[in-house]
Amino acid sequence: MDNSYEQYFVDSEFLSSEALKKKHQIENDPSSRTDHMKYLEDMDKIDSDIIEKVQKEIDNYDENIYSAKDVKKALEHDLCTLEDFKALLSPAAKPFLEEMAVKANRETSKHFGNSVNIFTPLYIANYCENYCIYCGFNCYNHIERLKLNSEQIEEEMKIIADSGIEEILILTGESRNLSSIEYIGEACKLAKKYFRNVSLEIYPVNVKDYEYLHECGADYVTVFQETYDTDKYEKLHLMGRKRVWPYRFEAQERALMGKMRGVGFSALLGLSDFRKDALATAYHAYLIQRKYPEAEISISCPRLRPIINNNKINPKDVHEKELCQILCAYRLFLPFAGIVVSSRESEEFRNGITKIAATKVSAGVSTGIGDHKSKYTGDSGDTKEGGEQFEIADDRSLDKMFNDMTQEGLQPVLNDYLYL
Ligand code: SF4
Repeated sequence: MDNSYEQYFVDSEFLSSEALKKKHQIENDPSSRTDHMKYLEDMDKIDSDIIEKVQKEIDNYDENIYSAKDVKKALEHDLCTLEDFKALLSPAAKPFLEEMAVKANRETSKHFGNSVNIFTPLYIANYCENYCIYCGFNCYNHIERLKLNSEQIEEEMKIIADSGIEEILILTGESRNLSSIEYIGEACKLAKKYFRNVSLEIYPVNVKDYEYLHECGADYVTVFQETYDTDKYEKLHLMGRKRVWPYRFEAQERALMGKMRGVGFSALLGLSDFRKDALATAYHAYLIQRKYPEAEISISCPRLRPIINNNKINPKDVHEKELCQILCAYRLFLPFAGIVVSSRESEEFRNGITKIAATKVSAGVSTGIGDHKSKYTGDSGDTKEGGEQFEIADDRSLDKMFNDMTQEGLQPVLNDYLYL
């Protein structure tokens, strides 16, 4: 085991001796784990060469060969090539952050004006069958587990909709048994009653399941690849279906084959070499955009955050400066892509980056289960609340976010999509 990850291991007194034994075995003995590159029998294997193309680029990317001259050249070009993008992500670009931000701001204004979309996430269940060692929902972490029933989901949705939000992102932990496709489908049907846009961030599924979820009302799917470094991925995702790296990689393509309108991409920055992960994320999105020109594409840029029972987890070498560099580089390489900055980042950072590159932010956020009532109205009633996935850094309500953005000269947008 890579020593840098040992700090992520936390034993709980609530685990049985048998569970503890299994946990230690998969943490310490790689041969006890399943093959992370092998699809399981029930997983769709699609005909696509995008994995090979992305892997080739990350394998060949040497961030240290780029110089200030390469960065200046990249900034002079009207169109940012893949080679320019690599230079902009490299350490040589760090002294050019201001120039990058000015150019990124120009591109953002050209394609999005001064508008910034607002959405909110709704976690409906936090059961998870995977052991991702950095995540608060992992199956060995002792947190309050909960799955909302239809009435509770609808109650949460009403409260969120009453606040003015028109776009919702439905999330679950990754448990196919406890949060089945049908359960998620029913949540989408309810969401369609209250929101104009319904997005999903759930476990990757097969094409026919995406089709079904689309019929239920979902139109956007985001899947975080976490890291594109397959060796690191193996060390961080020790158990469960999520271990299968290529199946996760192809989720966005399967979602588009299942008629979703758009897809989101992301690496969780801080898990591995963040420059390579940023390169892979954007190149993955770029190739999907070329293959499916009608699709809406967005990129998120989460950094690691502390979780319940482990506040040592942090974004390592990805500080705000590095994050800003990545986001400016994303904007220049993918001028039309949505860029999402979540409440993992601070109020100050989000206020700044929405003026440069970001086009979508979350507001009124909770990463726990069933706690919108207490957070939005101050009254929790009888609802039991489930544990959070990670700590958020910016807890502004929709009203506050709306006002702050307006004062910054931005135009907050709750919906920009019309169904005919
Ligand atoms: S990252 Fe997702 S799959 Fe992994 S433990 Fe957390 S909720 Fe489960």
